Amino acid sequence: MEVRLILGDQLNENHTWFIEPNNKVCYVMFEMRQETDYVKHHVQKVVAFFAAMRTFAQKLEKDGHTVIYYTIDDPKNTHNLEKNIKKVTQLLSATSFAYQLPDEFRLDEQLKKLSHSLNIAIKTYDTEHFLTTRNELAEFYKGKKALVMEFFYRYMRKKHQYLMVDGQPEGGSWNYDKFNRNTWKGGVIPPPYQPDATLSQEIYNQVVETKIDTIGTFDATSFLFAVSRDQSLQQLNYFCEHLLQDFGTYQDAMHQEETNLFHARISFSLNVKLISPNEVIERAIESYRKDDAINLSQIEGFVRQILGWREYIRGLYWKEMPQYKQKNELNNYGKLPNFYWTGNTKMNCLKTSIKNSLDNAYAHHIQRLMITGNFALLLQTHPDEVDAWYLGIYGDAVEWVQLPNTRGMSQYADGGILATKPYVSSGSYVNKMSNYCTQCSYDKKRRTGENACPFNSLYWNFLDDKRAELKGNNRMGMMYNLLGKIDPEELAQIKARAYKIMENPDAF
Ligand SMILES: Cc1cc2nc3c(=O)[nH]c(=O)nc-3n(C[C@H](O)[C@H](O)[C@H](O)COP(=O)(O)OP(=O)(O)OC[C@H]3O[C@@H](n4cnc5c(N)ncnc54)[C@H](O)[C@@H]3O)c2cc1C
Ligand code: SF4
Repeated sequence: MEVRLILGDQLNENHTWFIEPNNKVCYVMFEMRQETDYVKHHVQKVVAFFAAMRTFAQKLEKDGHTVIYYTIDDPKNTHNLEKNIKKVTQLLSATSFAYQLPDEFRLDEQLKKLSHSLNIAIKTYDTEHFLTTRNELAEFYKGKKALVMEFFYRYMRKKHQYLMVDGQPEGGSWNYDKFNRNTWKGGVIPPPYQPDATLSQEIYNQVVETKIDTIGTFDATSFLFAVSRDQSLQQLNYFCEHLLQDFGTYQDAMHQEETNLFHARISFSLNVKLISPNEVIERAIESYRKDDAINLSQIEGFVRQILGWREYIRGLYWKEMPQYKQKNELNNYGKLPNFYWTGNTKMNCLKTSIKNSLDNAYAHHIQRLMITGNFALLLQTHPDEVDAWYLGIYGDAVEWVQLPNTRGMSQYADGGILATKPYVSSGSYVNKMSNYCTQCSYDKKRRTGENACPFNSLYWNFLDDKRAELKGNNRMGMMYNLLGKIDPEELAQIKARAYKIMENPDAF
């Protein structure tokens, strides 16, 4: 008998493992405290993972496969991966143990260690999900100084022949990013796809009963995570039919009344592998070919996220781990404010983005990057604190994708491996890209005084404090020129206010 492990983010129904049932193979799946407790997760994230795992196990059984599944309240469950595997392999007198390569370094290490202590044959398999191997990005950038995503993206476009005509990018340009920066001025946006949440409600009750310590809220009527392959495909179709036509244009927009705008909400389904990146890209391109309302800049903007960013982030994770997790190149040591866990702040942009996150286990990219991420960096928060928050709060958060996005893109703690400069801004960017400032008690234009927007004072203070770390960065030259033009007396006032905010951000 061979025991094959399926982790909670390895729900790839099209894996060659499942081509046909084999009575000499038993699949094992475990809901474990090891996984619910290594960081404090959003309750909807725990529910979504368990619901997707249970649906997947039922499908395997229906297809004739043998499955051993330990639910969170199963008395046989030891809640530890090694112990559960040892228990099951002994019970079945297994002669071999097989697993798909995990995407997380932590689990990769754990399984390697376990393999050495199991006295049976060990087999490892690819997850057959990504469009690149673990080391492909490292090979691609070998000998190159900077890991600029755009070059990797072009390589991926050529390799997979997506949006290519006779070896050239369709439309003549590789990237239509400059058309992806419009603000949303209001109007009708199709509501997001709403999957059936009956199973999720049942699991939520169990999560509460088993006293897993979570954050955020659960409401079945607004639970938007697709937890089966069918639901995920429906969600993808819904996006292609109703939202893709405006995706690129409003990709960077934020709005007080709109949580989802034109975003796909498919990251959870992708990350647990219910759907694959190539089927997502191909389905979207099919819509673009058929529907005149979808123009090239919308589809290119979307393909870039999946074919470019997602694969790039994964490759970077495997290239840089485990050192990446310790990086703190900007020497930040502050604490994350309590209001990240409650939304209790007068700063409207933060209040709205954090409330979205607590209510939905979701925020779109620009809220993550330019509101919560930006503020944490301006406060000079320790990247460990920022990572723990992002890893816990979002339904789609798995370390391989969360860590480079947070520590690298958002906190610049890797010193510029991922981003060419820190993503920091004053209130003027927030005001340009959203309507948050119109409903805020702070004055977006002021940088000193009691009602000055905290982003403003913190921004100039950040530049001043981080001169040593950022002085060699050419892309920051213009900002340092502007900083140099601030009257020293005013700068002293800006800094005094910034330090007051940094001492007690929860008072603002
Ligand atoms: C600080 C920070 C933390 C993040 N943490 C995560 C995370 O834990 N998990 C996660 O999946 N994404 C993360 N992202 C990337 C991005 O914000 C989410 O993928 C996106 O918001 C998911 O929502 P969506 O499906 O509606 O995406 P859409 O905006 O509709 O985009 C479509 C898809 O593109 C992919 N994508 C877009 N941008 C990225 C990116 N930067 N990295 C990887 N994939 C991308 C995702 O698969 C996404 O589903 C993070 C970004 C930041 C700035
Ligand atoms: S004024 Fe400042 S704190 Fe208020 S919403 Fe705008 S950027 Fe945020």
